[in-house]
Amino acid sequence: MSSSLNHFIAADPEKCIGCRLCEVACSQAHSSGSAFTAGALSGPILPRLYVVQTPEITIPVQCRHCEDAPCANCCPVSAITRKNGAIVVETKLCVGCKTCMLACPFGAIELLPVYKNGAPVMQAVLCEEKETAMEEAPMLFAGKCDLCTDRKKGPACVEVCPEKALSIVDPSRMKRERNIKAAMSFLNNSQNFS
Ligand code: SF4
Ligand code: SF4
Repeated sequence: MSSSLNHFIAADPEKCIGCRLCEVACSQAHSSGSAFTAGALSGPILPRLYVVQTPEITIPVQCRHCEDAPCANCCPVSAITRKNGAIVVETKLCVGCKTCMLACPFGAIELLPVYKNGAPVMQAVLCEEKETAMEEAPMLFAGKCDLCTDRKKGPACVEVCPEKALSIVDPSRMKRERNIKAAMSFLNNSQNFS
């Protein structure tokens, strides 16, 4: 990605039918080796985009890869950085404090369990009943869209959407195209008045 502005995935609410295939594809793209054929799921669906369904609208919501990313700015352990033109979470550094989740204006971050070889990674946490005792609970991390930067075929959600409701937006290119369109429109209108 050569543009200086981060790319992001945009969804068209006119086309989205709420089938949630994008969520399944996202989860599969971010799992290591889990089977995703019918009847062979080896773990939960853990997507990094979230389909919103209300009586008025059906649309997946996901990270906009903000240039001045509030999630990265507020992370107390610097677990969120810019990598290959995307805002990404370094899972190993994330402590699950939820600060980024609250800071994101799009609700694009969810605390997800860390999975390895089809099983949740456990960690010691304070016990609910006895505050001084410890117990085992799944390790959590801030899960969000990473534009599938490590996937050769690009974002899985865009690839699988049966309605072609998702697309990769290059903001710089879009701006140039709109500038040209406006200039052509200006030219045409000028000729009409001459
Ligand atoms: S681009 Fe990749 S990470 Fe982002 S929502 Fe789609 S599948 Fe998930
Ligand atoms: S997670 Fe939210 S705040 Fe962070 S870059 Fe994405 S849209 Fe912006």
